[in-house]
Amino acid sequence: MQFKAFEDNIEVNGRTVYAFVDGMGNFKSLGEKYMSDAGIGKIKNGKWIFDPEGWYPQQAWLDGFAAISREVGDGILYKIGCAIPANAFFPPWVTDIHSAIRSIDIAYHSNHRKNGKVLFDEESGTVYEGIGHYGYEQVPGKNLILSVSNNPYPCIFDKGVITAMAQKYDLKAIVFHDDSKPCRKNGAETCTYLVSW
Ligand SMILES: [Zn+2]
Repeated sequence: MQFKAFEDNIEVNGRTVYAFVDGMGNFKSLGEKYMSDAGIGKIKNGKWIFDPEGWYPQQAWLDGFAAISREVGDGILYKIGCAIPANAFFPPWVTDIHSAIRSIDIAYHSNHRKNGKVLFDEESGTVYEGIGHYGYEQVPGKNLILSVSNNPYPCIFDKGVITAMAQKYDLKAIVFHDDSKPCRKNGAETCTYLVSW
């Protein structure tokens, strides 16, 4: 189900929230307002007071997402999703479309924490549970990757993230939402995307 955190005590880092708001382009001040309404930072004298080095409740952020989706529409969520990878730092092993799609789940866990503990441990390479995943499965013999999202972010946002990551390494890449599979927008737990190039 989109917009509903899987567990309590999950937080997202300020840098990710900042990338999200920045990705709204001309709608940025609207994004700041929705974040402030959701309890992330505060608008003071017309300025959004927010700490990019801080951590914020994931559910509050998702509430902001939901408000933006309701009031501005899904198109903006796609645009924001596309903008997220542009602001992100990627490890040196990300060198092609396969590693790019695989890295989304790592980046996702690196930017969230549970009970104060970051959900990816760089040293041991361990991914901890609590927020779901961004999947990666190579279809043998084809330029095709299957990516199943089971996380609380909205369907159209994930399509943007996956598209931007794929196109970073192959401009011909196209991402389809597999409409024959369940969709979080309709209350399901997962969405399936096909990345082809
Ligand atoms: Zn979907």
